[in-house]
Amino acid sequence: MVQIKSVGVVGAGQMGSGIAHVCALGGYDVLLHDVSAERISSGLSQIEKNLSRQVVRGLIDQAAMDQALERIKPAQELQAVGAVDLAIEAATEDEEVKKTIFKALTPHLGPKTLLASNTSSISITRLASASDRPERFIGLHFMNPVPLMNLVEIIRGIATDAETYEAAVSFAQSLGKTTANAEDFPAFIVNRILVPMINEAIYTLYEGVGTVDAIDTALKLGANHPMGPLELGDFIGLDTVLSIMNVLYEGLADSKYRPCPLLVKYVEAGWLGRKAGRGFYDYRGEHPVPTR
Ligand code: NAD
Repeated sequence: MVQIKSVGVVGAGQMGSGIAHVCALGGYDVLLHDVSAERISSGLSQIEKNLSRQVVRGLIDQAAMDQALERIKPAQELQAVGAVDLAIEAATEDEEVKKTIFKALTPHLGPKTLLASNTSSISITRLASASDRPERFIGLHFMNPVPLMNLVEIIRGIATDAETYEAAVSFAQSLGKTTANAEDFPAFIVNRILVPMINEAIYTLYEGVGTVDAIDTALKLGANHPMGPLELGDFIGLDTVLSIMNVLYEGLADSKYRPCPLLVKYVEAGWLGRKAGRGFYDYRGEHPVPTR
């Protein structure tokens, strides 16, 4: 069985910082990399903020928080990440960006290093082909926010070997997560179902069937969803939602997955949701205000 002690995380955004957070709390040594020192430090401050919140809620104690923070080290250079036992890529949902990362990382990998991608939708088999080790490559799809959500979807590429799969499952379980296996088809299980629903909610808005407020209220109270679909789209990031719809549309060649033009417009405007301060809601004031 592969022994995992150290984890590298590439991408220090919402997901990368969440993954680094749970790995450090789980006792792993973590290297966190992003394209700039500023991005890494904003990821680190997010982790500190989220850990403090857990301390205030009594979920962890101060000593656990301090130890977790000590275990996370910034990695300015991607090469440094090659030395870990498991490298998890959590960069922007763009196939070229991800493949470039795996290609650049490959010459620096230890012989036994396992590779994983946190992609929401892109083929694990295709991403694995950008590395030198498709048999040691797997999809580890964490949910947002990582410290709170219990699921990790596990996706084997065509070449992923049994040892890598077993190591991935026991790694996810060691973080207190439950795993679900998905086959390597566009958007796997969760996002194959969830993201077309969000896209449909955007069509509902686009066609004037309801306002932002009416659509979110209807799904929260009418379907017992904890968040409305537009609020959820903003939470995920509308650029990520659009990329996933494009992967579904192209990968399954079915027009039912076409992205709503209004979603495209929001992304073109840079209104990417919560992380950008504006999406279907404007988050810059005290309370979110619908933007339509
Ligand atoms: P994000 O925009 O918050 O963060 C992406 C980060 O990747 C940014 O900090 C960016 O600077 C960095 N990045 C871009 N190119 C890079 C490169 N070449 N090298 C290193 N870092 C690079 O996005 P996110 O929401 O954290 O999503 C990251 C991944 O996680 C995507 O694949 C996404 O599909 C997946 N994911 C997202 C969610 C979600 O709800 N947002 C849930 C599960 C999985």
